Amino acid sequence: MSILTVGTVAFDSIETPFASAEHVLGGSASYISLAARHFCDDVRLVGVVGQDFPDEYRQTLLDGGVDLEGLEVDPEGKTFFWHGRYHYDMNERDTLETQLNVLETFDPTIPESYADSNIVCLGNLEPGVQRSVLEQVVDPDYVIADTMNFWIENTPDSLRTTLQEVDCFVINDSEARELADEPNLVTASDHILDMGPDTLIIKKGEHGALLFTEDSVFSAPAYPLEDIQDPTGAGDAFAGGLAGHLIRAGSLNQESLRRAVVYGSVMASFVVERFGPARLLDLGPGEIGERAQSFRDLAAIPSLVPLGKQLA
Ligand code: AMP
Repeated sequence: MSILTVGTVAFDSIETPFASAEHVLGGSASYISLAARHFCDDVRLVGVVGQDFPDEYRQTLLDGGVDLEGLEVDPEGKTFFWHGRYHYDMNERDTLETQLNVLETFDPTIPESYADSNIVCLGNLEPGVQRSVLEQVVDPDYVIADTMNFWIENTPDSLRTTLQEVDCFVINDSEARELADEPNLVTASDHILDMGPDTLIIKKGEHGALLFTEDSVFSAPAYPLEDIQDPTGAGDAFAGGLAGHLIRAGSLNQESLRRAVVYGSVMASFVVERFGPARLLDLGPGEIGERAQSFRDLAAIPSLVPLGKQLA
């Protein structure tokens, strides 16, 4: 069973109120695949970098167990660059600069060996490029997609076309409001499900995630962490854990989807503990299980006693 991820492989410069880092390895595809790899042996990455992409970063992805046959190197161009600054409330961030560079002309050709991928995870990327990858995969079992405000604002029609081919759409709360043009998240979810996906997951940063289908809602908590170093990649690590669990479960029913949201939240909770994707690289297998259990404990509601009955 395999997962194909497509997205950016990037240089990120990140500022928080407490620390900063320049030109660290980032990008949606990097985070998704490094997270998914903890659940699935066969994680394939499709993306593009420039001639300036260092061997050291390539090696980091390889050490994380990611298949890089689909990572193109554009000898003419520079690697995608993103510069973000987090507020004191680290749920808020400003994008200070986005340099698309090699992404401007990226027209992915996926390796033949990737055409049979079971789950396709379309990371944050120009929606037309997301579609072009989908066209090259033969009948995938499940398509998960992410996006961000940049594409909602700059390529809204193309995004809507892509959404018609997506099974599970994962976005954050402000993006959901913007895409649906609706402040209430429940109403926004109805509008977005009407655009094509069967399942919508709305991430709410440190307030957890909501899973919507046509006739159900599930709410997962976020893990209350004391030390958040860098929230970058949390959304992507979430998507990686989600895809990873679904492959492991071998099923797409409600129960599997709910557990997958918890494993997505687990991976997001780890990635924020260090700058860049570092934490995804030193995670022991036991740690994922332990944190998943903590999530379960965190959300356990004791049995309820109707009003008028004696409390035990
Ligand atoms: P997240 O924190 O999960 O929303 O994702 C952060 C990652 O998204 C960073 O590593 C960036 O390199 C990448 N990124 C930022 N802007 C874009 C964009 N417009 N398109 C694709 N990826 C982006």
